[in-house]
Amino acid sequence: MDIRYRSTRSDAAPITASEAILKGLSDDGGLYVPTQIPKLDKSFAELGRESYQEVAYDVMKLFLSDFTQEELRACIRAAYGSNFDTAQIVPIRKAGGAYYLELFHGPTIAFKDMALQILPHLMITAARKKHEKKEIVILTATSGDTGKAALAGFADVPGTKIVVFYPKDGVSSIQERQMVTQKGANTCVIGIRGNFDDAQTGVKQIFTDPALKARMAQAGYQFSSANSINIGRLVPQIVYYVYAYTRLLQTGALGDAGEINFAVPTGNFGNILAAYYAGKMGVPVHRLICASNTNKVLYDFFRTGEYNRNREFHVTSSPSMDILVSSNLERLIYHIGGDSAAKNDVFMKDLREKGDYVITDAMRAQLTQFCGGYADEEETADAIRTLYSNEGYVIDPHTAVAAHVYGAYAKSTGDKTPTVIASTASPFKFESSVMKALGRETDLSDLELADRLSEIAGVPVPKAVSGLRGAEIRHKTVCGRSKEDMQAEVEKFLGL
Ligand SMILES: *Cc1c(COP(=O)(O)O)cnc(C)c1O
Repeated sequence: MDIRYRSTRSDAAPITASEAILKGLSDDGGLYVPTQIPKLDKSFAELGRESYQEVAYDVMKLFLSDFTQEELRACIRAAYGSNFDTAQIVPIRKAGGAYYLELFHGPTIAFKDMALQILPHLMITAARKKHEKKEIVILTATSGDTGKAALAGFADVPGTKIVVFYPKDGVSSIQERQMVTQKGANTCVIGIRGNFDDAQTGVKQIFTDPALKARMAQAGYQFSSANSINIGRLVPQIVYYVYAYTRLLQTGALGDAGEINFAVPTGNFGNILAAYYAGKMGVPVHRLICASNTNKVLYDFFRTGEYNRNREFHVTSSPSMDILVSSNLERLIYHIGGDSAAKNDVFMKDLREKGDYVITDAMRAQLTQFCGGYADEEETADAIRTLYSNEGYVIDPHTAVAAHVYGAYAKSTGDKTPTVIASTASPFKFESSVMKALGRETDLSDLELADRLSEIAGVPVPKAVSGLRGAEIRHKTVCGRSKEDMQAEVEKFLGL
């Protein structure tokens, strides 16, 4: 079946997977969605005997219709290997009445690696297929996690360069250390004297500057984006839901109905949307439990049908979920509106202009699979402490949000369906919050804290953290927050 990609905001002709991966966002501002969600073409029993890499192939081949078998297999080989600290890639740990799907065994110990380890390979393959000779320049603004995961993915990938801007005083010290020690001659990391919004605004302006685009083209470069709306990030995330289901089925953990719930700590709605797509491919999903922190826009949306971003923004211990506009929700809105770009466009316009929209009752009726919940800061810390004292298992604050929400859900509904919780970060990445939740001393250096946490959790300090000890600082540039200052740094790096 030939799957193509069309925009959520217009009826322009669908494009191929390669084109969608290279473009990222549609010219009309919409997101690319598949023209159809393909069904799995192997039985769960067969998939259950396959390795992670093989399941990845069997899922992704259905979406990336214009990739050859050799091309896709090469991308998967390059992405999921010894860069992960376990051969299983995504181990599953049973604890506290749920199954924790550990998505944090990649090089930056957060689940973003699951997609960002493969995206660079998908991109250069797509460029080669399109006979695109220009070198790809990835430009990213980061508040911490995405920047490092993108750097780790693109470092030393031939045919690409990556420039990351971060707010000099706006990321944690581990996060900054992770970025400024990044190796790879094609990487460039710059601190800006401003906040994340300044960084993001500057990047958007540089991206859309026509004069710069022309000079880039002359020098043999083109910009591309690695952010979470790229379908090259979404498709690889579907894989681990299919994989998790087949593993649970194999161990006999699923009941007669063979159904499963997924509970996902949610920010931009990319991860849980991948679980929704896994359901559409044939995984018997009973409930999708969407877990938010105090920034509970999505909880309110699933309860009332109204998405309202006009509210106070909270800084929490799960910063990767501190989001008021969940970009990937647009894809779900498009689908439940009957794959209607016209309808979706009206909602998105309302969101831009008024910060608010209300979906129709007919659309709400299609959301029964979803169930929203949220955890405040105290509930998040409690979830970490309780799981540790009952099971000796330490989870990070993002995962803890989902653990709390799932616990409350199970209690209030009595639903006994086996539930997989997406464990999105290693506790070592947010060790200060974790140690505080466990009632331990936190007044130590990052690396000392890691050693203490290792003793408590009974797991070794991940290489992503221990490797920072004595690592050379390779990126020292700090610039002003204006577009001109930032662009000057990009031009210097590219030799324009
Ligand atoms: C990005 C991130 C999330 C949120 O995922 P979305 O796909 O944006 O919903 C949750 N937890 C961690 C640790 C993350 O890095």
